[in-house]
Amino acid sequence: MTPVPPGSTIGIIGGGQLGRMLSLAAAQLGYRCHIYAPEASGPAADVSAKWIQGDYGDTERLLEFARDVSVITFEFENIDPTPLRPLAESKPVFPPLLALEIGQDRIAEKSFAAELGGRTAPWAAVNSRDELEAAIAAIGLPAILKTVRFGYDGKGQARIKTVADADAAWTAIGECPAILEGMVHFDHEFSLIVARDQKGSVSFWDTPENVHKDGILATSTIPAADIVRQQVPSARALARRIAERFDYVGVFTIEFFASADGPVFNELAPRVHNSGHWTIEGATTSQFENHIRAILGLPLGATHLRGSMIEMRNLIGHDADNWLALASDPGAHLHLYGKHEARPGRKMGHITRIT
Ligand code: AMP
Repeated sequence: MTPVPPGSTIGIIGGGQLGRMLSLAAAQLGYRCHIYAPEASGPAADVSAKWIQGDYGDTERLLEFARDVSVITFEFENIDPTPLRPLAESKPVFPPLLALEIGQDRIAEKSFAAELGGRTAPWAAVNSRDELEAAIAAIGLPAILKTVRFGYDGKGQARIKTVADADAAWTAIGECPAILEGMVHFDHEFSLIVARDQKGSVSFWDTPENVHKDGILATSTIPAADIVRQQVPSARALARRIAERFDYVGVFTIEFFASADGPVFNELAPRVHNSGHWTIEGATTSQFENHIRAILGLPLGATHLRGSMIEMRNLIGHDADNWLALASDPGAHLHLYGKHEARPGRKMGHITRIT
């Protein structure tokens, strides 16, 4: 595609903090962003040129949104790709919708990763209470029951320690299509943030070690533990195969467990990711800028580190209430997402420290 010139408008589907940080990166390069989202407003509204309210399934409204933009992307993967297909006929949509389709379905993403040589946790499909019984027999306990779709930040998951927990777990996830996943014994979790441009160049950032609390990312730290660093080459080889298979354009993320037997693929997000927020100050080019560059047809920027130790810490729920104290730390890069209400588990901002 001929590079889209500065002054043009980018359409972003989804208006959360990822849309906000994408809009900021686009503005720095001289582009405007229009946001399409079902809510009346959101974190991306403060920093983008226009907000169009509409359902993710409303093709008519989506086509209206598409009319005024040069290229379309998304910051949220839980959208049905079907209503987006007509958009792809009118305007370029990156990343490819196949990546969206696979990334939002735990069965599809695990099968896809396995087909390309990745290792996953043992899993079994569960479509009924009886199938849960059979899955427990096949996979063993403890295990985690996860909805096939619409899971994020630990939502749509229930742990099963003994058979007595099965009923409660099935109810807790809403009795919908799920998988039962065996527990992986891991030392650390890590993620790869990957960018691919329209000419097929792939680049990676350094690999952070991620710590989750209650299923939500708490910190991403660089350098990662030795075991993670040893596993990065094989994880990257899988990521390259995934990028090529999708003919991917933009940034995507793969989360892994570093087990004693090597990296275990956990999940794929066809978008910029919370574990890459440190790249804003910690790398020559951020994940947001490289995503914007890739979808516009520009070359990727360098991804070198700008420090030897980096920590990104999420501000969750009421963590951001003491914003003045946080802002008073001269060594901390404070990001607040402009969310008005602090609810438990809600990501309100993050802090990056570089030394
Ligand atoms: P997920 O939404 O699948 O990324 O799960 C959220 C978090 O739960 C992960 O980052 C892990 O900390 C934990 N977790 C999920 N699946 C497993 C598993 N199979 N074994 C051990 N821990 C897991």
